[in-house]
Parts: sequence; structure tokens; C-alpha cells
Amino acid sequence: MAITPKSTSTSSQTDIAFAQNGRGYLSLMQNSSDTNLKLAPHSDWSKMRDVEHFVQFYEADTFLLNSLSGFIGAGLGAGDACIVVATEAHRQGLEERLKDNGLDLAAVRARGKYISLDAGETLSKLMVNGSLEPQRFTEVIGELVTRAAKSGSHVRIFGEMVALLWMEGNAAAAIRLEELWNELQNNTHPFSLFCAYAMHGFDGEAYGAQFTEICGQHSQVIPDESYTLLSSPDERLLAITLLQQKANSLEAEIAERKTVEERLRELEKRKDEFISMASHELKTPVTSLKGFTQVLQRRFKTRDDQESLRFLSIMDSQLNKLTRLINDLLDISKMQQGRLDYQEDPFDLNALVQEIVENLQAGISTHQLLIVDRTEAQVVGDRDRVGQVLMNLLANAIKYSPKADTVIVRVSKDQQNAIVSVQDFGIGIDPTHHELIFGQFYQVTDAAEKTYPGLGMGLYICAEIIRRHAGRIWVESRKYHGSTFTFSLPLQEEKAPKESYCH
Ligand code: ADP
Repeated sequence: MAITPKSTSTSSQTDIAFAQNGRGYLSLMQNSSDTNLKLAPHSDWSKMRDVEHFVQFYEADTFLLNSLSGFIGAGLGAGDACIVVATEAHRQGLEERLKDNGLDLAAVRARGKYISLDAGETLSKLMVNGSLEPQRFTEVIGELVTRAAKSGSHVRIFGEMVALLWMEGNAAAAIRLEELWNELQNNTHPFSLFCAYAMHGFDGEAYGAQFTEICGQHSQVIPDESYTLLSSPDERLLAITLLQQKANSLEAEIAERKTVEERLRELEKRKDEFISMASHELKTPVTSLKGFTQVLQRRFKTRDDQESLRFLSIMDSQLNKLTRLINDLLDISKMQQGRLDYQEDPFDLNALVQEIVENLQAGISTHQLLIVDRTEAQVVGDRDRVGQVLMNLLANAIKYSPKADTVIVRVSKDQQNAIVSVQDFGIGIDPTHHELIFGQFYQVTDAAEKTYPGLGMGLYICAEIIRRHAGRIWVESRKYHGSTFTFSLPLQEEKAPKESYCH
């Protein structure tokens, strides 16, 4: 689609039009009939054609306002009727500039030669349920143009509603509105229309096609000031060459990134498959070792071989550690595949906390696990999985506070949530890691941390389980000042009474 001027006017002004080249992006063309290259578009705003719909891209508001005051100021000077549909800031900026140029704005306004409207308000009159209503456009805008053209004068319009739609992310409506302006231009009195878009609104690869489409709605496209303000044709040609080179290298880079992303996704998939396979393969021999350890334990017990029993008990606890790691790996791989099933049963979180703390305490002599606050808190979910979260937090509290001897547990609730916290007096965590430690395989690695075993799976699993229960998990901690891990779960909603009595 070539973007060429629709006007047949024979203005001496140089036409700048953009056309798509074969490779999909825009290149600048000059009107071949004009041999005297003068590339600055609309340097003379008085030489407007009768019918024109051009778009000005801009980076700074000041640049837009200068162009706009040139366009409107020249129009008013030539006796044109001018309509400005703009944001409040742009109307103000424009009017200040017009006054500074000696224009009696009140007088031209009184003569109906200057009509200004708020872009947002006017746009809301054209929209029904988020979409543009062509009928309303004809009524509101069509009527406005007819009124302005009544005196027989030529009409100049600055319209910013398209830019508002674009900034709201409603690209389809912005393009449709541009089309409606074009239809109006063909069907009613001729007018010159000035559209403007902030260039930063078009950042990102996704906008390429829509950008082309917007340009395609205009008879002229004026680049932003980084090009337009260049003073000589040579400078502009250099700028275009540099932009072309930039576009080429960006396209190459994007293509390269896509390949790398694809490769990363493939590797990520293979990693997940490996974790899943490895954890399944490890499970069978460990289960078998565990079974035979128990058989041996029974044999050595009957023979009263204390030393062998001690070795076997060490073996057994190491096998338990291995089993926990394998189970964590299995959980992670199931979570990644969305295959982890959760029960949906009501249970008292407080009772679960008591149970887990008692069980854990029975096997631990280094720390005292103290429950200081308790309250009945009925929640709905998977009791075993929530128990797994608490076990993980308690195990970490013990592991990461080797010099302390107490871990404090609290159960409380607010209006909507049951809240459980586990506080330790250990090595603490610097705030820079607080979000990251809930990620997969993340471990804080600094000199002090190196001696702690682990794979960085526990907190990720906790966060996933809590997320699936529509709860929250977080940490409050500072390096060397201990840590408090807290999770909250929505309280079970109280059932409405079965019968209600009216007195
Ligand atoms: P792991 O403990 O196996 O490394 P986790 O996912 O349970 O994995 O924890 C991730 C990281 O968060 C740990 O490596 C550790 O650096 C930090 N961390 C977790 N709990 C605590 C705690 N109570 N005190 C200090 N650091 C902790």
C-alpha cells in the first residue's frame, strides 16, 4: 500500500510521502515533479492544500505546539475557520502561543473562526460501550465542520482524539476514527486535518503493522523532530541512512533473539523432562534401599549388634533426606506440568500446626519450637500440602539458625485470613533476596551461606502450594537479624443460617 497524497492540488510545496518498500518498512520518497529538493515538510503553513490529512509525529510537546501554532496561526491569518479538538494542556499551550504572536483570540472566537473542544469529552460523545459509533461521529463532528464552513471559508482542523484512543490501547478504534475523518473529508466540505501522535506511543515490535496502517490513513506523514529539525537536505539524507542501518540491525537482532528464545524454551523443556525422569528413576532404588535397611535393622536387633544398628540408623536418616529431595523434585516437575492434585477439605489450621510442631519437636534436640499464639482457624484446602509448607518453613528455621535454640510459631487471624508465622533467630536474609528466594532453585550465595546444604526447592514449592490455595507467603528479615516467614490462607466462609426468622 503506497501512502501517497490524496490531493490533486498543484501546490509548489515539496511533497513528502512514505511508501512501503519491498522489505516491509517505510522509506522516504520525494515528489519526482519537484527537482528542487526542499525536504522540510510544511515549513510554510500558509501553503496548505485545500484537502489534506497529515500526521505529525513528535517527541516533545513543545515541538508539537510550535507546529500546531504555525498551522492554526497561518489559517486564522488567512481567514480560515479553525477547529481544535485537543487535550487541555495542548489547547492551553496553543492558545498561549497564538496570543504571544499577537492574535486577538477572543475576537476570532467571537466571529466563529476559532472553535476549541476538549478531546476527551468530545471522544466520549462518539463512543458507545468502548466502540466508536460512526453515526455519532457524523452528527457531532460533521455538524461542527458544517457550522465552521458556513461563512464559506476554508476549514483547518487539529484533532487529537485518535491519539487518545491510541494511548488507551484502543488501536482499532484509533484507525477507525482516522477512516471516519477521511470519509467526512470526502463527503462534506473540504478541510485540512492535522493529526498528531507522540512517537513514544509506538515503541515495541508489536506496533509495526498498526503504525503502517495509521500512516496509511494520511495524505502526508511528517516524522518527529529528530528528523524534521535537521536543517540541510544532506543532514536529512544522512539521518535516513542511519535510520535504515539501525532498522536493519534491529531486525537482525530481533530475528537472532527469537532463535535464542526458541532454543531456550527447548532447553527448558528438556530440563523439565530430565528432572521428571531422574526423580522417577531415583525413587525406585531408594525405596528398595530403605526396605532392605529395615530388614537389616530387624536382624541386627535380634543379634543385639549395637554398632551395626547405629550405622543402619545413620543410613536410614540419610535415605530419608534423599527421599525428601526426590519428593521435592517430583513435586516441582508435577507443578510444572500442572499435574499436582490438591484436596479441597475444611480443616483447622491451628490443630495442624500443633500436630506438626509436636511431631518435629520429637526428633529435634537443638531447638525448642514454641507456639506462642494460637487460635482456631478453619480453612479449606489440602491439609497435607499445607502441612508440607509448615514443615519446610520450620526445617529452614532450624537449618538457618545453628547458633540459636528457639523457633517461634504463631497462629492468628484477621477478618478474612488465617495467618501462620515462623520466626527464627538465625542468619537472616538481605532484602534484595526476599522475592527471589521463592523462585525455583534459588539459593542465597554469599560467603556465610556456603556451608548450608540444599537445592533451593523448598520455598518455591511452599509458594506454589500457597498460591494454589489463594493465599500469600512472604518473609520479613534482615541479614544477621533472623527471619520471619508468614503465610496466610483465606478463612472458610461461614455458611449462611439455613432458616431466617421474621419477627
Ligand atoms: P534450600 O534451603 O534447600 O536452599 P529453600 O527454597 O528452602 O531452599 O530456600 C531458599 C533459600 O532461602 C535458601 O538457600 C536460603 O538461602 C534462604 N532461606 C530460606 N529460609 C531461610 C531462613 N529461615 N533463614 C535464612 N535464610 C533462609
